[in-house]
Amino acid sequence: MCMLTDMMDYGAVLCEIAVELKEFEGKGKVPSYIPELAKVDPNQFGMCLTTVEGTRYEIGDSQVKFSIQSISKVLSLTIAINILRSDLWKRVGVEPSGNPFNSIVQLEYENGIPRNPFINAGAIVIADVLVSQLKRPKEEFLAFVQGITGSDIQYNEQVAQSEKSVGYMNTSLAYMMKEKGNLVNDVEEVLDFYYLQCSLEMTCVELAEAFRNFGETGKPFGHGEYILTMSQALRMNALMLTCGFYDESGEFAFEVGLPGKSGVGGAIVALLPERYCVSVWSPPLNKKGNSSKGMKALELLTTKTGGSIF
Ligand code: GLN
Repeated sequence: MCMLTDMMDYGAVLCEIAVELKEFEGKGKVPSYIPELAKVDPNQFGMCLTTVEGTRYEIGDSQVKFSIQSISKVLSLTIAINILRSDLWKRVGVEPSGNPFNSIVQLEYENGIPRNPFINAGAIVIADVLVSQLKRPKEEFLAFVQGITGSDIQYNEQVAQSEKSVGYMNTSLAYMMKEKGNLVNDVEEVLDFYYLQCSLEMTCVELAEAFRNFGETGKPFGHGEYILTMSQALRMNALMLTCGFYDESGEFAFEVGLPGKSGVGGAIVALLPERYCVSVWSPPLNKKGNSSKGMKALELLTTKTGGSIF
C-alpha cells in the first residue's frame, strides 16, 4: 500500500487494477430488462481518473460511449435543487431506502414520498419538477450536461424508447405517486423525460469530467443559471454516499469509502473531495444492479492509494 499524496502515480495504480480484475472476468450479467442494454458487449472495460487540478489518467475503453442511466439522477437533482431549494425536500426524502432501486413497497406506506432522489421513484419526482419548471426540459437539461462536461453529450432515443416499451414498474411508481398527490404533470410526459435523461451517453472521460466539480466543494459548481452553493455541493456528496448505490450503499461506503453513483448501464462515478474524481465502466451487473467489476475496481483503488473520505 502507498500513501495518498499529490505525487500519486494514479496511472500505475489503474494498470495494476486492470490486471487484478482479470480474475473477475465473467462475473455479473448485463441487464436484460432494458432490451437495448442487453445488446452491449459485456467485455468492455474502461476507467478514468481526473484530479481536481485536471490531470487525467485513463485505461481500457475510457473513450467509448455508454448509457449513464441512473447516474443522470445526480444531474437532474442539481437543477431541481437550484430551482426549489429546501422546498424540494417536502416531496422527496434524504434517507437510504435499503430497498432495490425500482421498489414500490415503501412508497405506498410512506404516502407517495420517495425515500431519496436516487431511487427510481425519487428521480421520477425530480423529473416531474423539471417538466414543471423548465420551459423546454429536454433541451435545457441537455444543455446543462453539455455545459458542465464541455463535450457534445447526446441522448440515445433508441435506448429511451426501448426502456419505455417495457417500463411497467416505473409506470406503476408514477401512478402511485400521482394518486397520492406527489406528481403534478401527466405521467406519460414525466416518464418520457425520465427515460430520455437516463439514456444520456457519455464516456468514462466525460463522466469523470462532469462529476469532478462535485469534489471541488470550495468553488461554486454548475452551468448557466444552475449553480450549486458550497453547502449544496456538500449535501450532494452526502446523498451520493448514503443513497448512491440503493441497497448496496452501505457496502460501497464500507468497501470503497467514497461518495458515488452507479447506473444499470454498468458505470460508476465516485469522488474523493478536493483530490480526484474517478469513473469506471463494465456492463455486467451484480444482483443489486451495480457493476460487478466497477465495484471491485474502486475498492482496489482506495485500498491501493490508501485514501477514502474516512
Ligand atoms: N432507467 C433505469 C430504470 O428506471 C435506471 C435504473 C438504474 O440505473 N439503476 O430502471
